[in-house]
Amino acid sequence: MINSNNFVYSRAAAARILNVKHWAIVRFEVWYKVCFVQIKGQRPTFISKKAFKQHFVDWRIEQSRSLCVAQVNREHFRVINPRKSTAYSVFVYEDGFDCECHDYQNQIMIFGGKKACCKHAYGVLTWLGFDKLSDYINKTKAIAVV
Ligand SMILES: [Zn+2]
Repeated sequence: MINSNNFVYSRAAAARILNVKHWAIVRFEVWYKVCFVQIKGQRPTFISKKAFKQHFVDWRIEQSRSLCVAQVNREHFRVINPRKSTAYSVFVYEDGFDCECHDYQNQIMIFGGKKACCKHAYGVLTWLGFDKLSDYINKTKAIAVV
């Protein structure tokens, strides 16, 4: 069951941050501001929750780079993963994006609001010429005011 703790602060994310295989992590605990990580045969280490949050974004941006984006109409995009032969619809709105993938739905469920951004949304964001979702939202807001 996914919750706010194991979604962002996960053993898999810790493995990617530390550049080790996930099975090498023998103990993983979410503490107040850090996560306690013990790799087999090594002394325990800590990873800040801030580092996990940054990794959460960086990982999705990294994953979005291999995706192909095709515009269907003004607000509808199809994002294709050539490696996995999958395709997801991303809808673009003034206040954010909407994707049909599990990751996006999980982010909405766990974080609430409309500020979710999965790798497909990052693909569209890059295609539109933006680095961050907040840059896109600020730009569309500025246009709406004019
Ligand atoms: Zn998605």
